[in-house]
Amino acid sequence: MNPDFPIYSPEEQIAHPLLEEKEIRLTIKRDDMIHPFVSGNKWRKLKYNVDEMRRTQRNHIVTFGGIWSNHLLATACAAAKLGIKATAFVRGEPIDSDSLFLYKMFGMNLIYTDRQAYRDKLKLYNDYFAHDPSTYFVNEGGSGLLGARGCSETIQELTGTYDHIFTAAGTGTTAAGILHGIEQYQEQAELHVVPVLKGAAFMLDDIRRFSESMLSFQFHDEYHFGGYAKYTPELLRFIQDFTSHTGILIDQVYTGKMLFALFDMIRKDKFTRGSRICAVHTGGVFGLLGVKKNFVF
Ligand SMILES: *Cc1c(COP(=O)(O)O)cnc(C)c1O
Repeated sequence: MNPDFPIYSPEEQIAHPLLEEKEIRLTIKRDDMIHPFVSGNKWRKLKYNVDEMRRTQRNHIVTFGGIWSNHLLATACAAAKLGIKATAFVRGEPIDSDSLFLYKMFGMNLIYTDRQAYRDKLKLYNDYFAHDPSTYFVNEGGSGLLGARGCSETIQELTGTYDHIFTAAGTGTTAAGILHGIEQYQEQAELHVVPVLKGAAFMLDDIRRFSESMLSFQFHDEYHFGGYAKYTPELLRFIQDFTSHTGILIDQVYTGKMLFALFDMIRKDKFTRGSRICAVHTGGVFGLLGVKKNFVF
C-alpha cells in the first residue's frame, strides 16, 4: 500500500468586527486544509482503521453513507490513494449528484440500498461480505473508538493554549476524540460541542464511550436549524458574512452551524474579554455547492 497522508492543518487567527468589539481571540484549526476531498476529521477517523486493516492484512474497506456524504467522498479518495478497494452502501436511489460522480471517479463500488435495509448496517455487511476475509467494516461517518483516537490528534497538534475549543458533531466521534485530546494536552480548555441534528442526546453516551474520559463539556443542542442538513436564510447569511470576512469557506451542514453558535454566544457575552477560543474546521465544504441557488447576494 502507498504511504499515508501527511497532515497540514495550521492554526489561523481570524479577524472579524464582532471579535474586535468583544475582544475575543478566535483561532481556526484548519483541518479543512488536510486535503480537498479527504478533508478534516474524515482522514483522522480513517487513519487508525487503515492501520488496523494493514495489521489484519485486509485490503477492501466496506462502509456506509448518503448521497452527499463527506465520509464516502473521503473514503473513496483515500482508498484510491492508498491502493485499497472501497465499497459503499449508499442510502437511497442513484440521482444526478456531484458527490456520486466523484465517488465513482475515485473508483468506489456503490451498492444502493433502501432506507429500511440501510438501518441494519452489520446485516448488510454480513449479507454481502461475511465470507470475504479481505473486507473491513467501517461504520457510517467513520464513527467508533479508532476514529476518535485519530481525532484526538487534532488537539495534540495545537501550538497555542486555549480556554474554549469548539467542534460540530454528527455522530460525536470527533467530539469524543477532541475531549480525549483536551484531557491530555489542553487541560485548561473547555470543550463545546454543537450537534448539527435534532434529538442529539444519543451522542452523549457515545462521546463518553469513545473518549474514554469523564471530563465535563458543554453541549449546545439548540443550533440544529430544524435538523440534519436543514438551514435557514439567517444561517446562509451568516456563512456568507463569515466567509467574506475571513477567506475561509464553511458549509451549512456542519461548520456553519458550529460557528453560528459560537458567534451567537460571543454576541450574548458568554465569554470574558480576552478569551482564547479555538474552533476546529472539520472540513467538508463541498456540500455548500448543493445549496448555492439559495444564497441571496
Ligand atoms: C462528518 C463531519 C462532521 C461530524 O463528525 P462526527 O465525528 O460524526 O461528529 C463534522 N464536520 C464535518 C465537516 C464533517 O464532514
